[in-house]
Amino acid sequence: ANTFKKRKIAVLGSRSVGKSSLIVQFIENQFVENYYPTIESNFQKTVRYKGTEFECEIIDTAGQDEYSLLSSKHVIGIHGYVLVYSVNSRNSFNMIQIVYDKIIDFCGKQDIPCVIVGSKMDLQSSRQVQSMEGENLAKQNHAAWVETSAKDDANISEVFELCLAEIEKRSDRNLQR
Ligand code: GDP
Repeated sequence: ANTFKKRKIAVLGSRSVGKSSLIVQFIENQFVENYYPTIESNFQKTVRYKGTEFECEIIDTAGQDEYSLLSSKHVIGIHGYVLVYSVNSRNSFNMIQIVYDKIIDFCGKQDIPCVIVGSKMDLQSSRQVQSMEGENLAKQNHAAWVETSAKDDANISEVFELCLAEIEKRSDRNLQR
């Protein structure tokens, strides 16, 4: 019998908000300063959460803008979403609702398991998005919310735990396996 629950999580958001850094910090416990734009990579990690082993497949995406079409690969078979903006970029924050609406449209569902992440919270002096704005956006969309720093390793595992929790909440309503 398969004792693992498989969970596929897609990480979306504008380019260079720190999606790869967030995932690499979670998987490898390191912060890699160098920037190379992601083509697309998949990562695996087994997470023990509330007594259950979850085999997580995490999909890093190249990044979206208002004109990009949502790839079906980022929706079909996906259990949960991590939508990332960086606290020092108003544009990246504005992209969250756009990407969220594209996913909702594609799925034809009213709500989806989703965590909205304000990344780079270590960059306090260049902050453009207040915490309260992130929290409110999440509330409006029935999503979880957290601010993180991949650089300082702050709240990184929380992102994926919150995502698993959002998926579990809806597991009565949605087909998971
Ligand atoms: P992606 O395009 O969304 O995958 O973004 P990357 O992970 O490649 O990061 C883009 C740039 O932001 C890189 O130069 C990273 O070093 C930097 N970065 C990522 N996370 C953080 C963070 O938490 N704090 C700070 N200060 N910089 C970060």
